[in-house]
Amino acid sequence: MKAKKFEKEKEIFLEHIQKAGLRRTAQRDLILEIFLKTEDHLTSEDLYWLVQKEDPSVGHTTVYRTLKLLTEAGLAREVRFGDNKTYYEHHYDHQHHDHLICTQCGKVVEFFSEEIENLQDEIAENFGFRLSHHSLRMWGLCSECQRLQADPNLVPSGAQPKVRVKSVVGT
Ligand SMILES: [Zn+2]
Ligand SMILES: [Zn+2]
Ligand SMILES: [Zn+2]
Repeated sequence: MKAKKFEKEKEIFLEHIQKAGLRRTAQRDLILEIFLKTEDHLTSEDLYWLVQKEDPSVGHTTVYRTLKLLTEAGLAREVRFGDNKTYYEHHYDHQHHDHLICTQCGKVVEFFSEEIENLQDEIAENFGFRLSHHSLRMWGLCSECQRLQADPNLVPSGAQPKVRVKSVVGT
């Protein structure tokens, strides 16, 4: 059905584990598959629970190590949102973006602003820096949490999933 899906990613991963002297295993393939089809910012714990649903024999350590391999292979990227956890997001074939993080429910919104990007380059230049990379994170309350805060009669809907929302700010 979707056999062609993630073909390039799978090829990159296979090449990487072979270079690392590791074997291709059904468990690693499953972890890769689930990671790729989940458009989200995931901790290794989050991914572990998703994998558990498909194959309860997969251990947490295997998930963690596979995420490390995915990162080394350039398929995943580590991001931190200030809660002492390491999140992973898709990196390969994904455009640079920055994050807005809700301190109440943990929702993460991705954005890209050409204007901000240019401004950052300018600032770096002014200080004589040659930039290698940057990560802009902004914390606050999302609109939903503001609404709940403003109206005490509204019952919170429980733990919010960390939704990956695409939005483009500026031009
Ligand atoms: Zn940026
Ligand atoms: Zn929120
Ligand atoms: Zn992101």
